[in-house]
Amino acid sequence: MANLNCAEQNRFLSRVKREIVKYSISSEDLFGYYTVPIRYEGLPYDLPFVYFVNRGCAYDRMGACIECNFGRGQRVPDEQLIAQLGKIITQFYGWPAIYVTPSGSMFDDSEVPEHVRLEIFRLLRAGNFKFVATESRAEFLTQSKIHAVREVLGDDVEFEIGLGLESVNGWVRRNCINKMLSLDSVVTAIELCHQCDVEVYAHVLIKPPFLNEFEAVEDAVKTATWAFEHGVDRLGFALTNIKAGTVTRWLAIHGIYQPPTYWSVLQILLSLRPEWLSRVGLFGFDSAVSIEKPAGNCPSCSPHIRSLLQTFCYTKDVQYLRQAEAYPCQCKYAWLDEVRRPCLPLRHRVVRYYEELGRDFLGDKWWESNRNSVLTDLLEDG
Ligand SMILES: [Zn+2]
Repeated sequence: MANLNCAEQNRFLSRVKREIVKYSISSEDLFGYYTVPIRYEGLPYDLPFVYFVNRGCAYDRMGACIECNFGRGQRVPDEQLIAQLGKIITQFYGWPAIYVTPSGSMFDDSEVPEHVRLEIFRLLRAGNFKFVATESRAEFLTQSKIHAVREVLGDDVEFEIGLGLESVNGWVRRNCINKMLSLDSVVTAIELCHQCDVEVYAHVLIKPPFLNEFEAVEDAVKTATWAFEHGVDRLGFALTNIKAGTVTRWLAIHGIYQPPTYWSVLQILLSLRPEWLSRVGLFGFDSAVSIEKPAGNCPSCSPHIRSLLQTFCYTKDVQYLRQAEAYPCQCKYAWLDEVRRPCLPLRHRVVRYYEELGRDFLGDKWWESNRNSVLTDLLEDG
């Protein structure tokens, strides 16, 4: 597999993920859209988020990203793919802005061959959108691929590429997510996009698997700070949800992990420099694949806080965050207790959870013969 960033792979998590993946996406879920609340040209806008599943994410097949189940695919003949995607995209002709993405990377030729990619951008060009966005893993971007798309879109269209960053912490990326990503590749991709007059949107995961609420806040704030300091134009925080066929689901069932609370989300947003807030959005309220347990607070305050968070996304007005933060609900005390409760360092907890995962998925015998190498890798990882 040329191009894939195997140096950053956590082989243990890959192995567990491949065991857990019995779930596959149903064919009616291969194409679709939902909308994401954003602010566009000074007004609230429901950005159509159009997705298609073709051959699937190359990294998903290697067991990467243990919280995600969207990477699986089945090959769709090129003509059928273009026709089905065209039906969805043309519904939005006349709208100013659109986001179109495969389940992995728009610029991975093995997932979206170049002639298919260019055909998709011709469909977008024909719709006269003023703003077009997509996403790709950083290492699949090259100048010639971006130029080819730019040529189809024309210079007058604002073009944005979303890069999955998730966490700036290399230990978390490898041992809690298995993202298989080096920060160097992100830095290179940011420079490349800017040279090609493409804006960069960084995807940051709120609360990677294994992290608690306190660690999640710290991780997301550090990651966003790194991203803005390295020149990203906009940033989207993804709320981790629990979905079928993921290691995260197993962790949730075993009481090891819960999706982030809105209290943590608010804390993250309110910790950012005010000048960055207008460039930040949230997603994960909806998903292409059904959510078993969403991020959020208790049932009593979740609808209200969610609505304020979405209003913030539409307006970028910090007063909605302050209003949400001040909302009186008992569950805030439980969150504060959790944030303040002393607990074992993340590394030590992950050692314990790897053992539970290893024994459950790979068997006691496998674990006994491999525990030393798995735990040495984990503990010696810088
Ligand atoms: Zn509540």
